Amino acid sequence: MARIVVKVGTSTLAYPGGLLNIRHVEKLVKVLSDLKNAGHEIVLVSSGAIGIGAGRLSLPARPKDIPGKQAAAAVGQCRLMDIYDSLFSAYDHITAQILLTKEDLEDRERRTNFINPMNQLLAWKVLPIINENDTVATAEIKVGDNDTLSAIVAEAIQADVNILLSDIDGLYTADPRQDPTARLIPEVPAITPEILALGGGAGSSLGTGGMATKIHAAQICCEAGIDLYIVNGRNPDILYDIVEGKQVGTRFRGRKA
Ligand code: GLU
Repeated sequence: MARIVVKVGTSTLAYPGGLLNIRHVEKLVKVLSDLKNAGHEIVLVSSGAIGIGAGRLSLPARPKDIPGKQAAAAVGQCRLMDIYDSLFSAYDHITAQILLTKEDLEDRERRTNFINPMNQLLAWKVLPIINENDTVATAEIKVGDNDTLSAIVAEAIQADVNILLSDIDGLYTADPRQDPTARLIPEVPAITPEILALGGGAGSSLGTGGMATKIHAAQICCEAGIDLYIVNGRNPDILYDIVEGKQVGTRFRGRKA
């Protein structure tokens, strides 16, 4: 039995306009429910509040201003949890919502106030679903991205593994969309300056926030002795492969003390 933190991004959950990608969400919920039935503890870190809020409000685009993002998140978070709760209920699983800000995880006492109920929820076999509290968390108090949030959560609750479901197969030696010679890196034993550079250092073609935040998340997990995987979330069956120890995506090895 493993304690698994799975992070899913907006691009897997919703279409570009913010409407739900029903096929992806239903499949994800099914696989996570099955893994829970098999005895694993699952924590889901889910994005999508702002994107799904914008879709629900029929906004022409995702808001760019802070109050717009905050307000869209308030609408979308509610919708997101409603969807998760009804889909997980169909498999007899109970969900719980936890919304965090950076301060909740940095302050020692508040961190304990997060960890204790998390352990209780997992002992009760509940499936906690976590997001940043985007409606009240403005720049100064924000973690900012859910890759990092997922890693901090995995570290706090001493997870065995953190899995980032992405829209790319893993970490490549160069941007595979631009460089046909780019190779997938299956295993990263240590986060070297070369690996960090792949996240967007000078001259890197992978300079999207996407890979940089994932490598940052990997740093947090590896330091804490937790394995982190970057895999393609298109087919959530890939979660079974990870649990079965198969080689998929990119695995960053947690440094065991
Ligand atoms: N918390 C944001 C949301 O739910 C997403 C942050 C991220 O995608 O990293 O919309």
